[in-house]
Amino acid sequence: MHPHRKRQFQITGGYWLLAFAALLLLQTAFLREAAPRDVPYSEFLASLRGGKVARAEVREDSILVELKAAGGAKPARLRTSRLPGMDETALLKELEAQSVSFSGRIERTSFLESFLIGWLLPLVILAAIYVLVMRRLSPGTGGPLNLGRNRAKIYDETRHGKVTFADVAGVDEAEAELVEVVDFLRNPQKYLALGARIPRGVLLVGPPGTGKTLLAKAVAGEAGVPFFSLSGSEFVEMFVGLGAARMRDLFEQAKLRAPCIVFIDELDAIGKSRGGMAAFATHDEREQTLNQLLVEIDGFDSTKGVILMGATNRPEVLDPALLRAGRFDRQVLVDRPEVRGREAILSVHGKKLKLAPDVDLQVVARRTPGMVGADLERVVNEAALAAARRGSLTVSGHDFEEAVDRLQLGLKKQGSVMSEDEKRRVAFHEGGHTLVALSVKHADPVHRVTIIPRTIGALGVTLQLPAEERYLMTREQLLDRLAVMMGGRAAEELCCGDLSTGAANDLERATETARQMVSRFGMSATLGPVTFGRVSGPRFLAGTGGEERNFSEDTARAIDAEVRGILEREYARARRILEERRDALEAIARRLLDVETLDRSQLEELTGPGASRSAHPAARPSPIAFSDAR
Ligand code: ADP
Ligand code: MG
Ligand code: ZN
Repeated sequence: MHPHRKRQFQITGGYWLLAFAALLLLQTAFLREAAPRDVPYSEFLASLRGGKVARAEVREDSILVELKAAGGAKPARLRTSRLPGMDETALLKELEAQSVSFSGRIERTSFLESFLIGWLLPLVILAAIYVLVMRRLSPGTGGPLNLGRNRAKIYDETRHGKVTFADVAGVDEAEAELVEVVDFLRNPQKYLALGARIPRGVLLVGPPGTGKTLLAKAVAGEAGVPFFSLSGSEFVEMFVGLGAARMRDLFEQAKLRAPCIVFIDELDAIGKSRGGMAAFATHDEREQTLNQLLVEIDGFDSTKGVILMGATNRPEVLDPALLRAGRFDRQVLVDRPEVRGREAILSVHGKKLKLAPDVDLQVVARRTPGMVGADLERVVNEAALAAARRGSLTVSGHDFEEAVDRLQLGLKKQGSVMSEDEKRRVAFHEGGHTLVALSVKHADPVHRVTIIPRTIGALGVTLQLPAEERYLMTREQLLDRLAVMMGGRAAEELCCGDLSTGAANDLERATETARQMVSRFGMSATLGPVTFGRVSGPRFLAGTGGEERNFSEDTARAIDAEVRGILEREYARARRILEERRDALEAIARRLLDVETLDRSQLEELTGPGASRSAHPAARPSPIAFSDAR
C-alpha cells in the first residue's frame, strides 16, 4: 500500500542525447536500406568480363550491378561510379556481349521523398518518444500538454470505501488530537464565532507504517470532506520548475473545494533543510518546490476551511521554516503501538477473516513487540495465507504463530524487532533507570517507562518530567541525574550478568555531564573553582567550534581522572540502590515485560507510594528521556 519512493526521473541532457543518437541510427538505416557495396570501376569491369554480372542499371552518375547468384546465396550488389566523360557505347557493347540484362535510370531525387524520409519521419518518431515519456511521467493526465497540472488524488469515498477512525487502532493519543481537527472541518462556524485560532497545518510524525497516511484519510473520512493527497517524492522527480507549478495548482484546486484537507505525504522529500554545507548538494528543484509550499501555506486563509496535513518519519531533517507558527505548527506523534494497541490493530484487520475459536489475538500481540500497524496487517494476511495453504476455511492460532515467525525473521534483519532475550534485558535496563530515579532525592519524577522502541532509533525509554522549569542545577541534582543515567547499565549487570551495547548513549551523556561539572562548573573539589578550556571558533556553526585547550597535560590528566571518579562513584551508588531494592527492580521489569509501558501510578503500585514524590509536572514540561539508542 505504501508507495515506495519512485526512482527519481529527470530528463537531462544525456537523455536527449540518447534519443538523438537513436534517431540518427534510424535515419541512416532507412536511407541506406540494403546499400550496395561500392567498388572501383576496374573491379566492376573484371566482374563483367569474368561473366559474373547478372544485371546492371546505369544511373546518372553510377552503375548499379547485381552479380549472378552463386550457390543459392543472395546475389551480391555492387555499385561503381561512372567515369567522367566515358564512352558509353563501349560499355553497352560489353554488357550486351556478356548478355547482361541492363537498363538505365535517370535519378530523380524526389524532393518530397528525401524530405519525408530524411526529416519528417525522424520528427514523428521523436514526437512519439516524447509522448511516451510524458505518459510514463504523468499517468492519468492527457500527455504533455497538462504536465504542470498536479496529480493530487482526490480521495474518492465511494470507490475506496470511507476510512474512519474505526479503521485506525492503537494510536489513541494521536487520534485524540485529531478529533479537534475533524470537529473544526465539520462545523467551522463554531470555532470562528469564538474567534479561536484554527490550526493551519498538522504534521504527523512517526516511524514508517504506523498509520500516518491512514490517519490523515480517516480525518477526511470522519469530517466528510474532500481529501487531496500528494506525496513529496512525486514532486521531486519532476522537471525543474514543475514541482512549484504543481504545488500552486494543488492549493488552487483545494481552495475551490473548501472545506477540505490537503495532505502532503513524505514531507521530508521536499522539506529537507536548506542551507548549510549541504546546500551545494541539494536539489534546486526541491528548493523551489519547498519555497512555493511555504508561499502557499502563508497565502491561504485557514478560516476558509482548508486544513493542511503532512506526514514524515524524519522530522529532524525538516526545514525549520516549515515548523514555524502558522505553518505546520501542530505536531502529532504517531508512535509504535504497545501491546494493547497491537491487539486492537490485529482485531481491526482480523475482522475481515474467519478466526478459529482458538485464536487469541492478545497472545499474538504479546509476541510482536516493536511491530507497527503495517507489520501487523501483514501478520494477519500471512496467517490467512497459511490457512489457505492448509486448505482450511478458518484461520487458527497456529497460522498466526507461523505468520509471526515468518515476519519476525525479516524484521529482525532490519533490527526493528526484539527477541525475548533482548526484551528482558531492555526491561531490566529501563527498570534500572526508573528505580534509581524513584530512589534518589533530586531526580525528576518518572512519568512513564516503556520497553517498546518508541520514537525512531531508541530501544526503550524512561521519561522523566522535570518538576519545575529549571534554570540552575545544583551539584547534587547533577549527581543524582548521573546516578539515574547509570541505573540502566547497573541493572543489566546486576540481573542479566553480562553488559550490552544498549547503554552507550547513557554513558556518553553521563560522561559529558561529568566533564562539564569538572571543567565548566567548577564542581570538583580536587580541581577547584576553575574552568578549563575555552570555546573557540564561530559559535553559530553548531558543532564546528572546537574547544581550545588552555591547560597543561597534567591538568588534562587530572580532569580525566576526576571525571572517571565521579562516574564510578555514581555507578556504584546506582548499583547499591538497585541491590537494596532488588525486589522492586524485578517487579518493575516483570511488569514491563508483561504490559511494556508503565505510567506513574502503575509504578507507585509496584514500589509503594512516596517513592515517587508527588511533584506536579510543570505547565510546559520538557521531558528528559533516556532514549537508549542501539
Ligand atoms: P505510514 O503512512 O505511517 O507509513 P500507512 O498509513 O501507510 O503508514 O499504513 C500502511 C497500512 O498499514 C495501512 O493501510 C493499514 O492497513 C495498516 N496500518 C498501519 N497503522 C495502522 C493502525 N494504527 N491501525 C490499523 N491499521 C494500520
Ligand atoms: Mg505513509
Ligand atoms: Zn539507558
